[in-house]
Amino acid sequence: MQRSDLDPSEEWLASVWLGDNYLALSRPEIRASLKLHISRNLFETISSSGQFTPPFRIQPLLKHFRIQELIETFAPRGKSGMLIPTQGGFKIKVRKTDDIFRKRFTIAHELGHTFFYDFDNGDMPFYRFSRAHSNPWLIEEYANEIAAMLLLPERQLVEQLSKMNGPCTASTLLHLRDLYQVSFDVVGRRLIKDLGIWDCLMFKSTIGPGAQVSVNSVSICKGTSFKKIRIPRTLNGELGDAIRAAFKEGEIERVVFMGRAGYRLSSIRVPEAKSTCVSILSTIEH
Ligand SMILES: [Zn+2]
Repeated sequence: MQRSDLDPSEEWLASVWLGDNYLALSRPEIRASLKLHISRNLFETISSSGQFTPPFRIQPLLKHFRIQELIETFAPRGKSGMLIPTQGGFKIKVRKTDDIFRKRFTIAHELGHTFFYDFDNGDMPFYRFSRAHSNPWLIEEYANEIAAMLLLPERQLVEQLSKMNGPCTASTLLHLRDLYQVSFDVVGRRLIKDLGIWDCLMFKSTIGPGAQVSVNSVSICKGTSFKKIRIPRTLNGELGDAIRAAFKEGEIERVVFMGRAGYRLSSIRVPEAKSTCVSILSTIEH
């Protein structure tokens, strides 16, 4: 019996990972429980490949996910990656021209898609739920979450952060990005949205002609206390000045304490992107 509050893809995932127990749970409980079970399982998979410290390599995990071939190609139908079911497993295609961090995330994302397939005696993987009735974006969301769990495992990440004793700043973000070999966006989303470890606001901005600072609204990621703060598309005043200064100084972090508002802004230039800064807005601790 299909539950009306669950997407068919999600219900299938719940039946695989939680058994009949899911029937008594609400949707938020199911989501939380799925995340817990899948992240534990992924952590075991990573550990059993002999990896305990970042960066977590994907190559040693491919066999576990029945990936028979990893192909780098110029344009997998205009996408950054593709998962192709094949006899007894899958092939993954990944865009050749993407940088290594992006490729790592793409491959991990495609591994996330394998969670939605079922197998019968080594035949072609197939869906046991109706794709026509399920929301493809929900599957994408799960695939992204699974990719982040794989590349930034919670237990190890928490340990790492306690060792660093690092505050939530743009330079800590830069350090974590290099350590885990994933983009700023992935680290930020994981720390702020998925795990709620950092309570701050992260955004990327570009410096255009006339030193105008424009905010890339798709990359805004807000922690729990920052939900109501609005970041305008164009930044002026203190915020804009701090970002322009960080941009001029290259990779050097520029920290500005905004006394009146009670916030601290730290900005750092994204090394590979010519005119982009990543900024973290956090509350000043007293
Ligand atoms: Zn996808």
